[in-house]
Amino acid sequence: MKKTSRLPGFYKLSVGERRHVASAALGLDERDFDAALEEGGLNCATADKTVENVVGVYSLPFALGLNVSLNGDDFVAPMVVEEPSVVAAASNAARLIRGGGGFTAESDPPHMISQVQLDEVADPAAACAAILEHRRELMQRANAAVPGLVRRGGGAVDLEVRDLGDGYIVVHFIIDCRDAMGANLVNTVAEKVAERVAELAQGRVGLRILSNLCDRRCVRVTGEVPPELLAEGERSGTAVRDAIVRASIFAEKDPYRASTHNKGIFNGIDAVVIATGNDWRAVEAGAHAYAARSGTYSPLCTWRVAENGNLRGSLEMPLALGTVGGPSRVHDGARFGIRIAGVTSSQQLAELAACVGMASNLAALRALATTGIQRGHMALHARSVAIAAGATGKLVERVASEIHALGDVSLSAAEHALARLNSAPN
Ligand code: NAD
Repeated sequence: MKKTSRLPGFYKLSVGERRHVASAALGLDERDFDAALEEGGLNCATADKTVENVVGVYSLPFALGLNVSLNGDDFVAPMVVEEPSVVAAASNAARLIRGGGGFTAESDPPHMISQVQLDEVADPAAACAAILEHRRELMQRANAAVPGLVRRGGGAVDLEVRDLGDGYIVVHFIIDCRDAMGANLVNTVAEKVAERVAELAQGRVGLRILSNLCDRRCVRVTGEVPPELLAEGERSGTAVRDAIVRASIFAEKDPYRASTHNKGIFNGIDAVVIATGNDWRAVEAGAHAYAARSGTYSPLCTWRVAENGNLRGSLEMPLALGTVGGPSRVHDGARFGIRIAGVTSSQQLAELAACVGMASNLAALRALATTGIQRGHMALHARSVAIAAGATGKLVERVASEIHALGDVSLSAAEHALARLNSAPN
């Protein structure tokens, strides 16, 4: 049976019913959900072996992003996020893009940059020449540092030298990390080759570590939405489409807006990155540096009207994600997240995360360009406020809908509503 990510009415189900429906749709065993997620994917004893000074574990919601059609196949996106409305918004927008034929994505091979800094280089030109002359030998040394990776078809693929001036040189070893994010692998390479590089350059070894600006490992996504799917209330689809394009141009012209625009993209991307046990600090550091590569901080996803009249989005960014290694070794939730994603490679995981990022961006722009972001956001936020006021079970939804209808999503309004409902006869 072909996997589907279209699960209409999923949001109306209970957690148990969702597990049942999702396991059938994904071809998983329902018991796998219980095993992987019941303790949040990580118990205290394992956490204690993972980082230092552990005093407990800290949970976040694990949810499913729906409706993603990527290069003709369906994917369900695992999403770990604490912010209300992110999952619903991404799923809704992915459905709109599905209506335009789905996401098309492609990605670079998983090439990471290993940096070896050299300083006090007396003759930088001679040093660069000597390093390049010994390219073959240096690449062999790099490969010898990561035999397991080489066995899996990865390893050193290139080497380049950059003269930074003032006696500073940096050598980049380009390492194919296959299905790993690669930070540890690449750092191992840098530390193993540094002495020989310094000897050739007649300089002093400085830092030896990856660059998080992994611009050799970019992902590119496009997606279209027919304007008729964008209509909302009295606003026509073409009016909404054009408003979204103007919102994109605003971000392209103004870094103050671009920052918030990209935050919306990361609502989706970070959720997938965290759900699959990947390093969101690394992803953010790389993407923000990439967004500023022209000298002006810019949006990672832009929107225009295509020749056929559709709204067309294009996203490009570096994205180093792993389906092996890192926390996925010890975190049941992360391993389960990767299983839910159903990807076959680190590249495909990056493509899926980028699609969810584009969907999140579209959802935010559509809301901002029409009714504003608060209406939808507050409807969902009202539930958290109801819980904070002490509502449990069915009262959560009743208190939430009362305070939302009142237009006063505050703790005191929720407490009043709860007191009234509690004292009302059944
Ligand atoms: P890792 O150390 O777990 O190495 C990956 C391992 O998986 C290697 O031993 C490799 O041989 C093995 N492997 C098995 N199957 C593979 C396959 N198909 N393709 C590739 N490798 C395969 O993990 P990593 O990816 O090298 O490093 C990621 C970790 O490094 C993350 O936890 C990250 O937080 C951390 N880190 C990040 C930074 C940074 O971003 N600046 C710095 C240091 C460490």
